[in-house]
Amino acid sequence: MDLCIIGSGYVGLVSGACFAEVGHHVVCVDNDQRKVDMLQAGQIPIYEPGLEDMVHRNVASKRLRFTNSIEDGVDNSQVIFIAVPTPPQADGGVDLTYIERVAREIAGVLKPNQYRVVVDKSTVPVKTGEKVAETIRRYNKQAEFDVVSNPEFLREGCAVPDLMAPDRIVIGSAAQAATDLMKRVYEPFQAPILVTDVNSAELIKHAANSFLSLKISYINAVSAICEATGADVEMVASGIGMDKRIGRNFLNAGLGYGGSCFPKDVKAFIAIARQLGTPFHLLEEVEQINARQLNRFIDKVRDALWVLKEKRIAVWGLTFKPDTDDVRNSVAIDLVNRLVAEGAHVTAYDPKGAEKAVDWKLIDPAKVKLTSSPLEAVEGAEALILATEWKEFANQDFPEVKKRMHTPMIFDGRNLFDPNTMREMGFTYYAVGRSRPNAAS
Ligand code: NAD
Repeated sequence: MDLCIIGSGYVGLVSGACFAEVGHHVVCVDNDQRKVDMLQAGQIPIYEPGLEDMVHRNVASKRLRFTNSIEDGVDNSQVIFIAVPTPPQADGGVDLTYIERVAREIAGVLKPNQYRVVVDKSTVPVKTGEKVAETIRRYNKQAEFDVVSNPEFLREGCAVPDLMAPDRIVIGSAAQAATDLMKRVYEPFQAPILVTDVNSAELIKHAANSFLSLKISYINAVSAICEATGADVEMVASGIGMDKRIGRNFLNAGLGYGGSCFPKDVKAFIAIARQLGTPFHLLEEVEQINARQLNRFIDKVRDALWVLKEKRIAVWGLTFKPDTDDVRNSVAIDLVNRLVAEGAHVTAYDPKGAEKAVDWKLIDPAKVKLTSSPLEAVEGAEALILATEWKEFANQDFPEVKKRMHTPMIFDGRNLFDPNTMREMGFTYYAVGRSRPNAAS
């Protein structure tokens, strides 16, 4: 099939590559000329395992191409996916200006007698599909189209496998012709397809992300109780998670959830519920627990070091999770900036995220020293904080780490290391929701 994706970011580019991989012809549109130039030159603007090879392979076989022209995309495709940003507004609601603009742009280039399915893949508030349809109709009276909601559930860091073998595909559609075309698009993926009305599909995405955030906040709240009692949150999580009704996934205590999706989607769902007159106070508490989790962690560092001003602190990890270069709304970045604000001298290392953290002005390289290896970061440090659980951090030469540090003290914000091993190697080791150093030694 001929498909167009408008917006070639984390969702659009990976979706485009995967659709091409299963045999569709895909044109990815973006209005960021720099991005289009890079993609046309074979450079991939984001890091996602497996993506680069897949893009090159499909460009070479002429199933994938890039353009800045919506007209080109819309003219040559039966199905048009929208994958543009839906950032939060100051009041927590969703900024839909990107979506509205794309709807107008599509209306501007749709030709009469040219039936198209316009698919919203961006995460949007319930009833956005209706607005998109109204907008296209308002700007193009003759357009023949249907609007479908097809929320995306990929996880950054494993977006390619997630898209190639999804748990489910949700198609929110009111028109049989559109549903049939969408089923053909997804046929090669052999995943379960759930067909719903448009509103339900839109709600599924916000409800799913809010539920996952709730699970994280739940175990983080439990981790505070574990710390107060000497219990071990990892054992508690295993004990809870072995119950099939609950499951172990997303019961990982840590610094809290971050990234470009969970914080904004929880906020959005709270705002949507409030606007509908059905307030969702449970999610407000989810947010508060998340904020408290980082506060409690920083308190722990401060308790151990007493005064943070002028302390040399090494931070491993800047991205919001491992295996991505995405630093948007990363808790690790918040942490770094809060340490800097208290006057600490922070040295940070991340395998993929440092460049974007600087480019996007999320950290100030004049205030945070960025290093090209984890060992370099710990040189002379009075404490090491593990902020993102990249696998390479688990496999470091810890005797060497200890030798290079001023004081061998580790704050493991993601419970990556084994407490006993760390303590046996001579580190003062703090984790989240696990027994404190004096309790174990
Ligand atoms: P992104 O910022 O990485 O990519 C969006 C792209 O859209 C950018 O390249 C931008 O230049 C382009 N764009 C903006 N306006 C445009 C226009 N008028 N015409 C053409 N291109 C335009 O964003 P993302 O992370 O891919 O997220 C996109 C949507 O998908 C959001 O609604 C997000 O909530 C949702 N989502 C994201 C993820 C994720 O993990 N990143 C997962 C599921 C859903």
